[in-house]
Amino acid sequence: MRNIVLFGPPGAGKGTQSEKLIEKYGLTHLSTGDLFRKHLGEGTELGTLAKKYMDEGHLVPDQVVISMVEDKISNSKHCEGFIFDGFPRTTAQAEALDRMLKNHGMAISGMIALDVPQEILKERIKERGKTSNRADDQNEEKINTRIKVYLDETLPVANYYEEQGKFKKINGVGEIDEIFKEISVTIDSY
Ligand code: AMP
Repeated sequence: MRNIVLFGPPGAGKGTQSEKLIEKYGLTHLSTGDLFRKHLGEGTELGTLAKKYMDEGHLVPDQVVISMVEDKISNSKHCEGFIFDGFPRTTAQAEALDRMLKNHGMAISGMIALDVPQEILKERIKERGKTSNRADDQNEEKINTRIKVYLDETLPVANYYEEQGKFKKINGVGEIDEIFKEISVTIDSY
């Protein structure tokens, strides 16, 4: 069983690479951004709560995210493992994830961080905004806020895994298939 944290700033390519990884390794995709968007679309209470944070590019409070992930893990028994995409985004979330996995007899195999320079991120997100229908992709100020939130609140999560010897950085610029190959080499080593 492999449990992978796919890490990186907004626009790094986590969603794109996750899709390919699910297919190759039979892992269960757990994207907290996708789960929130699903709740939003269904008009649930959780969706309404998350919307005010998402619209501003801010993080949804830890406890809300953690409970949602706990639900998803508990309801996904008998899977080959998870790809965590967009989670954990704070050290508190990373600690909670370790606890949750331990309760289910699992652990994180490693974090794979996609490295992409800021200017390229902004271009990619704006391009994605033309078709993604995501309000948070379509406004320069919101894009800047999300990158700043990543640098201030999320980047420390990399240290959390580095201290455990579970951190691997991969160049996230280039051909999608080449990046995928490099990620696969790391996953195959787990
Ligand atoms: P994403 O699709 O991963 O870019 O997430 C879109 C938005 O959902 C983020 O800008 C946050 O507002 C919210 N979100 C997603 N995942 C998390 C998380 N792990 N912690 C807090 N907020 C999150």
